[in-house]
Amino acid sequence: MDAIISKITGEMKRHFYKYKTVSISHLQEIQNAVGELVRQGVISEKLHTGWQFYLDNNKNLPEAKSIIIVAMPQFITRLSFMWQGINYSANIPPGYFTQKDESCAAAILKGGIEHKGYKVSKARLALKTMAVRSGLAKYGRNNISYVPGMGSFHRLIAFYTDYPCEKNDWDEIRLMKSCETCFLCRENCPTGSISNERFLIHAENCLTHFNESEDDFPHWLQPGSHNALIGCMRCQSVCPVNKPYLGKIEIGPDFSEEETDLILNRTSVEQLSSETRIKLDRMVQDEIYPVMGRNLRALIEKQEKAVQQ
Ligand code: SF4
Ligand code: SF4
Repeated sequence: MDAIISKITGEMKRHFYKYKTVSISHLQEIQNAVGELVRQGVISEKLHTGWQFYLDNNKNLPEAKSIIIVAMPQFITRLSFMWQGINYSANIPPGYFTQKDESCAAAILKGGIEHKGYKVSKARLALKTMAVRSGLAKYGRNNISYVPGMGSFHRLIAFYTDYPCEKNDWDEIRLMKSCETCFLCRENCPTGSISNERFLIHAENCLTHFNESEDDFPHWLQPGSHNALIGCMRCQSVCPVNKPYLGKIEIGPDFSEEETDLILNRTSVEQLSSETRIKLDRMVQDEIYPVMGRNLRALIEKQEKAVQQ
């Protein structure tokens, strides 16, 4: 192992991160694979338009020789909200917070590569596909990527570099062995997005697709489906592979009755007190705040209904 890779490997291990290196020659293959799904009508045009961002060519570093894909462990973050005398908890699933871990991964790579005269630049590409093709992860039946030792509780990030990494980790798309005899995610999906007939889930019906967007929820979405402040935890929380990680919860800020009222009414960040803004900092930075009020209201209404029944 060369000195650059050896230094990066040591630092990654110290942070419990895992990574793989892939030759840039595979980039087009990843992009074409997503394009092909659109041509086949397997993913909707609307969804694909939202993904275009990830399909940019490596504009930032056209001379890139390698792609480095990194998985960083991330757990559920639990926030608390006081509302009408009742304390409500709301979870943010793993993978939504980017800033801290991404800067750390970037610093490790820059420390190992840039001081040797090479460049590193963040890559925007189909991260899950890249993680699975590189062998860093395997797909679950729910199309979520699972990394050994992290389950689906992780965040992925990729980088381009003009450093020619010797190792070219590249593999076929593989489903986890545990999925061969398990159907728990399919049986528990609140929107029926996990299909029997095909490998790809119906991402256009996935709850995550709706509650990450500021558009109104579709009329057919059952109010009982909501289970997280953003995204959906249902198929990850019933998954036996995730059992060791479910209890590792990061406790986030709690919000007073007055703060909850402001959040539910989608008050703009500028109108909030500096104390509330500090509590909301990560949600604002990672663009969760614009949908937080609407999603929190759905969670509270669900719980109120359950108490009335
Ligand atoms: S719940 Fe079962 S089928 Fe679904 S991803 Fe987990 S192991 Fe695979
Ligand atoms: S995230 Fe939720 S809605 Fe989407 S496939 Fe999993 S269980 Fe179904």
